Amino acid sequence: MDRRLELQTNLQEVEREISDACIAANRNRSDVTLIAVTKTWPASDVDLLAGLGITDVGENRDQEAKPKHEEVLAKNLTWHAIGQLQTNKAKSVAAWADVVHSVDRTDLVTALTKAVTGRETPLSVLIQANLDPNPTENRGGALPNELLNLAELISQSDGLRLQGIMGVAPLAGNDDLAFSKLQGFASEIQNSFPEANWISAGMSGDFATALKYGATHLRIGSSILGNRGFQG
Ligand SMILES: *Cc1c(COP(=O)(O)O)cnc(C)c1O
Repeated sequence: MDRRLELQTNLQEVEREISDACIAANRNRSDVTLIAVTKTWPASDVDLLAGLGITDVGENRDQEAKPKHEEVLAKNLTWHAIGQLQTNKAKSVAAWADVVHSVDRTDLVTALTKAVTGRETPLSVLIQANLDPNPTENRGGALPNELLNLAELISQSDGLRLQGIMGVAPLAGNDDLAFSKLQGFASEIQNSFPEANWISAGMSGDFATALKYGATHLRIGSSILGNRGFQG
């Protein structure tokens, strides 16, 4: 099948599911942003999606996203960095990303602040919260007791704009539990920082559940673009 038609068909199906889930969760579709996660897929797919009305794309690896960002012809897209981020990549990521979803530790706030000096518009950031009941070192995300401190630090940084919170439901676990926890963290942060009102939650397999718990930004890859194989 022609790739444009394939993407259009998938996108229509995903849009239908988002609409249904919004109705079920008593949410307005217009309060929800769909981020198409284009990692592992070529720049040409990003352009096809832009032609189909996609405004936001998500990438998780700097080394892939940086050249892709340059190659993509559609210039008015919003680019989201959604992957775990090393401090030594902060500068490079700040050059292509409009929003960084994975801020989970103080040294990353410091590195991003430094990386955006001289930039005209602030870099939007989300605090990634660890939703695993038994957090391990290698999964991304700040622990519950670190969230407010991170929010303070980001709010004091000139070049960064604290936009909200992000979470990934643990692979083996209860999605309702994970996303309700995230919603609780989000309202704690909003108590002190009312403008930090984004909740980035929900992927291909669990976005309907995320919408029940206030998700404002869905990160959907495989349902739109197809299966990535082992890499993603
Ligand atoms: C890959 C990825 C997604 C998209 O996952 P799908 O299951 O393909 O929809 C969402 N969020 C993050 C952080 C990812 O790395």
